[in-house]
Amino acid sequence: MKVMIDPRAGFCGGVKRVVKIAERELSSSETSLFSLGDVIHNEREIRRLEELGLRSTDNTILENKSDSPCRLLIRAHGEPSDVFERASACSFEVIDGTCPVVTRSQDIARAHHLAGEQVVIIGKPYHPETKGIIGHCSGDAVVVFERDDIQKLQPERKTFVLAQTTISANWFDERVGWVKERCRDVVVENTLCRFVVGRDKDLRHFAAQVDVLIFVGGTRSSNTKSLYEVCRRANPRSHLITGENDIDTAWFRPEDTVGISGSASTPQWQLIEVKQFLEKLNCVEEPIRDTAGNTC
Ligand code: SF4
Repeated sequence: MKVMIDPRAGFCGGVKRVVKIAERELSSSETSLFSLGDVIHNEREIRRLEELGLRSTDNTILENKSDSPCRLLIRAHGEPSDVFERASACSFEVIDGTCPVVTRSQDIARAHHLAGEQVVIIGKPYHPETKGIIGHCSGDAVVVFERDDIQKLQPERKTFVLAQTTISANWFDERVGWVKERCRDVVVENTLCRFVVGRDKDLRHFAAQVDVLIFVGGTRSSNTKSLYEVCRRANPRSHLITGENDIDTAWFRPEDTVGISGSASTPQWQLIEVKQFLEKLNCVEEPIRDTAGNTC
């Protein structure tokens, strides 16, 4: 069995950056470091950072002034501007890990909001990045997710449309069309993350060229779910795992080429771990199969 790791897999720039910030902050000071929400959608990487001292928390931490010095790490998705204000009021030192691609979207949305325009975010209303961008428009932005959402738009207003950075280009284009049906004066800025846009195509190609595709990702990552779907469509012998414990040896045949890939929040060390596990399988006895290929 031949095993290879997708050369394009691994953290995206924003996740790589925030993990590095967390590691740097944890090694440079003893002061407590909290992350507002999970810093990354990968349970095992969170556990690794927690072992280094990172503590996950939620917005309730912003309800009271901190008794002792504390640092608050903002994750790559970003936060509404009032979170920064409340954190400072609670005497937290804020460490901003917002991905620069997301910061740019927040800045653009705020500028158009301040210019009096109707700001439309094409995205998922419950996604933290979307909520963050709304917060940078003082709560005055419309999220278009389903077709009915365009009823909330004021047709006469000058309208500015941007995207949640991680949605697919087709999904964005379809919804831009809906907005243009309803509003006359519409300016569109494609704020999709280039890492995500190119990733679907590369992954489809990688999944199609191997016999079995193992996709490694966290259970709470929407990027994991959507990229795994891309794999499954390109290669029906695709399997989603969180780690080598989820692997069923019956998935493989000795002559298979196995590809390993992962989402934007899957660290390279997890991919290597899975590769090493699969390479060890080459040394053990193959499962006995019936004529339909099922293990006995
Ligand atoms: S997917 Fe793109 S926008 Fe999101 S954190 Fe990664 S680099 Fe930033």
